[in-house]
Amino acid sequence: MIENIITPTPINGVLDHSTPPIIDRFGRSFNYLRLALNEQCNLRCIYCMPEEGIDFRSEDKLLTTEEIFRLIKIGSQMGVSKIRFTGGEPLLRKDLSELVQFAHQCEGIESTHLTTNGLLLSKQIDNLEKSGLSGINISLDTLNPEKFKIITRRNGLDLVLNSLHKAMESTIQSIKLNVVALRGFNDDELMDFVDLTEENDITVRFIELMPFDSHQIWKTGKFYGADHIVADIKNQVDELNPIDGSRTEHHIFRVNDYKGKVAVIPAYSRSLCGACNRIRITADGKLLNCLYSQDETNLRDAMRSGKTDEHIEKMIRGSMMKKFKDGWEAQNEGNNKRESMTQIGG
Ligand code: SAM
Ligand code: SF4
Repeated sequence: MIENIITPTPINGVLDHSTPPIIDRFGRSFNYLRLALNEQCNLRCIYCMPEEGIDFRSEDKLLTTEEIFRLIKIGSQMGVSKIRFTGGEPLLRKDLSELVQFAHQCEGIESTHLTTNGLLLSKQIDNLEKSGLSGINISLDTLNPEKFKIITRRNGLDLVLNSLHKAMESTIQSIKLNVVALRGFNDDELMDFVDLTEENDITVRFIELMPFDSHQIWKTGKFYGADHIVADIKNQVDELNPIDGSRTEHHIFRVNDYKGKVAVIPAYSRSLCGACNRIRITADGKLLNCLYSQDETNLRDAMRSGKTDEHIEKMIRGSMMKKFKDGWEAQNEGNNKRESMTQIGG
């Protein structure tokens, strides 16, 4: 199956490799495709999803394996070089290893990443490693089992920590921890997370809370701004040395001579929009040109109605060309109709 699609047998019409990169009217170029694989999840993080879940789309509305292959291939021919699978919880999708393998073997794709809550990772990591996964971001907001149960509404800290250890032992190059920083919840654990970087070559990323949950947890005083997080870390370490990171890792540091790194992501403050290189596709195949955009381009229906690769390419370029200067403008353009980050693809 994979071989058939990877070998140059274009589905409808060919995109050759001289295709120009994807750009917008502000001169940004986009080479990083984030694909949500589902909306379902085995946790219920309080800032992401209500206990009862959300109005999950039925299976037939979600992209199939072949449709995802096709979008990766079209993207790679337009200059996409980095893929991330997210969700929902991507490890709940049975074809995950197949998707990773496809992306890994696709010409032009230099790295393939996964964002996961880690609950099921330890069982699947060998397969993912063999499939060519380059990086894993594990989401973990606390190192305390009781607090884990409060924030995720489930048990499972031991499973996530076990997965983290297995990930660190694997040959997968990039291992990061995503920590949503919340005042009054985990602000007292900053140093516990930072200390994980002392002996481990991982990146701990503190992420600002964003207003995407239907229960609006973020209005309850838990927001903890990037500048405050950085200042609070600075106050508690001897040396915080700035280093290079990915485009959204605004503040990235090495503490003392620790092996790993610490990053702070201004996901709400949106101070990094000028450096954005991301294209997002939701689990039901809608392209979003910004995390905060309400405007969707329906690639799934275009594919299902028999449109050619050239047509899909034009849709992608057209959408990215309409991207607003920053996430504030994008947010102001519409009313938020989403109940959860899983409908965007975190
Ligand atoms: N289930 C996977 C996980 O948790 O890693 C992947 C999907 S999840 C939506 C992706 C990332 O979005 C996670 O790191 C999660 O913490 C983050 N996230 C979800 N809702 C958020 C919110 N309201 N504000 C900030 N980050 C959020
Ligand atoms: Fe699930 Fe990830 Fe949302 Fe938590 S953040 S509920 S693990 S999708």
